[in-house]
Amino acid sequence: MESLTELYRIGRGPSSSHTMGPANASSLMKTVFPEADRFEVTLKGSLAKTGKGHLTDDAVVTALSPVPVRIIWDTESPTPVHPNTLEYRAFKGERELGFRRVFSVGGGKFTVEGEKAFDPPQIYPEKIFEEIKSLCKENKLRFWQYVEHYEGPEIWSFLNKVWNVMRDEIARGLDAEGTLGGGLNVQRKAHLLYSQCVQFEEAVRSESRLVCSCAFAASEENAAGGVIVTAPTCGSCGVVPAVLLYMQEKLGLPDSEICKALATAGVIGNVIKTNASISGAECGCQAEIGSACSMAAAALAELNGMDLDQIEYAAEVALEHHLGLTCDPVAGLVQIPCIERNAVAAMRAINALEIADFLTYTRKISFDTVVRTMYETGRDLFSKYRETSEGGLAKNYGVS
Ligand code: SF4
Repeated sequence: MESLTELYRIGRGPSSSHTMGPANASSLMKTVFPEADRFEVTLKGSLAKTGKGHLTDDAVVTALSPVPVRIIWDTESPTPVHPNTLEYRAFKGERELGFRRVFSVGGGKFTVEGEKAFDPPQIYPEKIFEEIKSLCKENKLRFWQYVEHYEGPEIWSFLNKVWNVMRDEIARGLDAEGTLGGGLNVQRKAHLLYSQCVQFEEAVRSESRLVCSCAFAASEENAAGGVIVTAPTCGSCGVVPAVLLYMQEKLGLPDSEICKALATAGVIGNVIKTNASISGAECGCQAEIGSACSMAAAALAELNGMDLDQIEYAAEVALEHHLGLTCDPVAGLVQIPCIERNAVAAMRAINALEIADFLTYTRKISFDTVVRTMYETGRDLFSKYRETSEGGLAKNYGVS
């Protein structure tokens, strides 16, 4: 498995596969063709179908700037290698300098066809959760100690930075008001929700409102193209920070404890990324929001001092009950259902924690089993439910 620095990525929303990946690929193309005086970039597959809403064209144009770019939206051609395909043609005057086909594979990463992919080192030798848990039990390690063992102590400054960006994205989102761009006229709700957290409200309702407002805040910042942390993706970026901030405030925890929870959540996200997928285009929203909920539940379990089996149970419950969740963003915008879905998943992570606490040791399904099931389910989903905005809510929105 790769480093957690490959999982938690800091960048502009609203989509790791549709904005961060294309932006990173475009920056590379600028260095591959330094003499180019114009580019033609063809967006295919999911990038063509939902790229406008995801601001893919903006990301490409900005990254290639000041070289002018013509964007071609190709919704028809097949994309047999990967649903997120970009084709770059570089020109100097009338002369074509070269062509590259690129695949945005999720998490802000990309590969170039025919070129050896830059594969980040696999710094964790274990691949599945059971191996990790066994190793930790044998050596009396918590999951965050397992992370520190392979990543070195420098992981803590990285996770501290991640936590600061997460807090910033929530703070900005709680402050902001008005309507998100893109044409759906979606009103930002985080500020309103947060301002309704009143002291005399029943404690449990007030806590729910706080968690939801934080999840809305981070997700609305993502939808607005703000700087966020993928956790594990842009579209699902609100779940983990919302539950962490809630728990930090509730228990008065120092940042160092939050970073340990981020490391634990990272182990869960890494196992899913390695053995299944965290991409909505590949496996539907279960791979994004389901994974985020699972990571959040594990983080909460860590903060509550639960043992390794209970952490696994919380993560498993959280993912299991997202199985089959489709990706159907209305108009290709990461707004409906994405923003509200982050808030619901944050609440579900808390529910999963409670079930793991109440029913410890009655569990029948392992985390590895539910990860495998999620992947198989995702591969069986029709493409219209995998970030193409051709089915589900995206199709029926506006139909009475
Ligand atoms: S529906 Fe889920 S997977 Fe699809 S864009 Fe929204 S958050 Fe991402």
